[in-house]
Amino acid sequence: MRDEGQDDGTPRLAREVADTAQRVVTGGIFYLLGWVVVSVSAGLPSKHPGTTALVALAFMALALMRIWPRPPAAGATRRRLQAWLDREWGVVLATAALWGAVLAWALVDPHFAPGRSAALLCTIAFATAFAHNYCLRRERALLGVALIYLPAPFLLPYTDEGLAVSVTVGAYSVYLAIVLLRSYREYQQQLDLYDALRHQRDQYERLSRIDPLTGLANRRFFGGALEHLVGESRRHGWPLSMLVMDLDHFKRVNDELGHDAGDACLARFADRMREVFTAPGAHLARLGGEEFGVLLPGLDAGAGAAMAEAMRASLVRDPLQLREGPLPLTVSIGVAGFDPGDGQDGSELYRAADRAMYRAKGDGRNRVRVDGA
Ligand code: GH3
Ligand code: MG
Ligand code: MG
Repeated sequence: MRDEGQDDGTPRLAREVADTAQRVVTGGIFYLLGWVVVSVSAGLPSKHPGTTALVALAFMALALMRIWPRPPAAGATRRRLQAWLDREWGVVLATAALWGAVLAWALVDPHFAPGRSAALLCTIAFATAFAHNYCLRRERALLGVALIYLPAPFLLPYTDEGLAVSVTVGAYSVYLAIVLLRSYREYQQQLDLYDALRHQRDQYERLSRIDPLTGLANRRFFGGALEHLVGESRRHGWPLSMLVMDLDHFKRVNDELGHDAGDACLARFADRMREVFTAPGAHLARLGGEEFGVLLPGLDAGAGAAMAEAMRASLVRDPLQLREGPLPLTVSIGVAGFDPGDGQDGSELYRAADRAMYRAKGDGRNRVRVDGA
């Protein structure tokens, strides 16, 4: 049993990608509509038909690029998520820059004067929507709002729109910045909450299958692995063996050294199991108290018994080290092999290994016994 990979921020990024994908969908079409309204009210289609069509085509292309390609599917790597996000931001910022250029044109070209009010209204609407919608990244969102909106306060004083309009538009840019920064903070808090919930869920999930003292699988999880491996063995005819190990006279450890030393001893024993049972696919578990289980897929009872003997001998040769010093502790091990031809199931394999373990106890402890042998 190995622990899952560390959280490197990929789930958080995936969440941001999903949120971004949802937010970019509708925006593009409004820029196109805005352009149609503004250019028609300014009479541009007759004055500059080529440019009018070109700008419309550009907004259309940018709107399509927002929704295609779709974001990477679940389980995508960090790099792919980041690449999609960067491309999407490129499209959104290009749209913002194009609108800013339209606004600048509307403000400096006297031919555009009849469409100026519409252009200003659209600009305020787009900048506000941008500040609310794209608060996921602070610097990029500020840049987008600036691209859409800043031509207004800078160029309006040179038009004949009057001082009041210039001042109002200038003051509104402060509001936009405040809204954006607040929305950004709120979004970050939402992501933090999402991270915390996910972390807690992983923790609970881990607790439900791991024994906290030893870090081994618990009995419940072991039972699931047993059923799964028995199924595989039956289907493919693969060998499978199971070990039940029970520490000898463990009560004495508690009685003589105390319960804490007993706990430490169980943890060191689990460490030793991890050192000895390195066979690929081996499942190690604490079945309860001072009783442990091992599943060895690919190994028959004979090979399983050899590994059991290696574990037993290792404890004798190299006693567990506690704070109090080396502990002369032995283990009795029962081994059973799964026989697919015999109609045996997982619980029968378990019982057979348990039976063999009790035989090892009865025969004097500190030994390995194989069921049926
Ligand atoms: P045997 O050789 O027959 O197995 O003798 P034993 O003393 O190991 O067996 P017994 O079943 O009499 O005692 C098991 C002991 O394991 C009793 C219990 O206090 C101790 N034990 C069970 N779980 C824990 C634990 O989590 N921590 C500690 N420190 N002791 C535990
Ligand atoms: Mg015992
Ligand atoms: Mg016991």
